[in-house]
Amino acid sequence: ATPTAFMAATGRGAQLGVLLRGPEALERLRHIDTVVFDKTGTLTTGRMTLAATTAVAGEDAGEILRLAGAVEYGSEHPIGRAVAAAARQAADGNPMPPVTGFRAVPGVGVHGRVDGVEVAVGRPRSGSPLPDVLRRALDDAHAAARTAVVVEKDGRPVAVLAVGDTLRPSSYSAVRHLRKLGIEPILVTGDGPAAARAVAEQVGIDEVHAEITPEGKTAIVAGLRAEGRRVAVIGDGVNDAAALASADLGIAMGGGTDAAIGAADITLVREDMQAVVAAVQLTRRTLSTIR
Ligand code: ADP
Ligand code: MG
Repeated sequence: ATPTAFMAATGRGAQLGVLLRGPEALERLRHIDTVVFDKTGTLTTGRMTLAATTAVAGEDAGEILRLAGAVEYGSEHPIGRAVAAAARQAADGNPMPPVTGFRAVPGVGVHGRVDGVEVAVGRPRSGSPLPDVLRRALDDAHAAARTAVVVEKDGRPVAVLAVGDTLRPSSYSAVRHLRKLGIEPILVTGDGPAAARAVAEQVGIDEVHAEITPEGKTAIVAGLRAEGRRVAVIGDGVNDAAALASADLGIAMGGGTDAAIGAADITLVREDMQAVVAAVQLTRRTLSTIR
């Protein structure tokens, strides 16, 4: 295509709220045949709220929320922000306790030291046993299509926090329209299978990969590319950055982390999933005819 065609397409893309890193992004967008969607913060708004706190006997749910909220204070993950916000609200103006040795592990959770206790908040470890009351809380959360995270004090599971999220209004129609364009949607998430399946069903995605680590996301993209597919990845998190960079085309949500936006070729400024469809249609129309 001519430089003029690229400039026109770039300008129209900007009107759609699609920000391109360079002209190659347009050309690659035109040839995409597979889109790998992240779940939390991508197909869903990522504006999560704490729905339930369940503590083991002998532990106070309010105190656990205070500790968990302190550790999540610096977190940029939607789950962490929900936990921190709930804790701040419960603190009623009192300052959050200080945290030392804070660490965030993308796709897993966070940990740090609060009030002399090592506090971890993160995804349930597969294979490690939970007390019955927490196991039931996990099952209840999953039945309600919520994401459940486990709070540990000094390595001992003491509570389950259930957080709820809502679907982005544009996700369903975007998936349907991508299919019509011959593009296959796939869901790849770090979250558990129940929450993953619930969202996939709501938006109409058949292929679902749950409990996938950030490295696992990259491996799935590599596998698809090895089959000869032209793969776009859409994500928002630090956990998506490597997959975004390794795809034929990386698409970041505008409200996502700096890591995701920095690794992507395209940013969806308005977070409207339908803009991806419009942009594909635009490149197929303008770039193919002017060649
Ligand atoms: P997704 O792929 O849906 O965006 P992530 O890969 O970001 O999910 O996270 C995977 C899982 O890791 C989450 O479902 C959660 O259990 C856990 N997790 C990640 N970050 C945090 C955090 N800051 N606090 C608690 N749990 C977390
Ligand atoms: Mg995400």
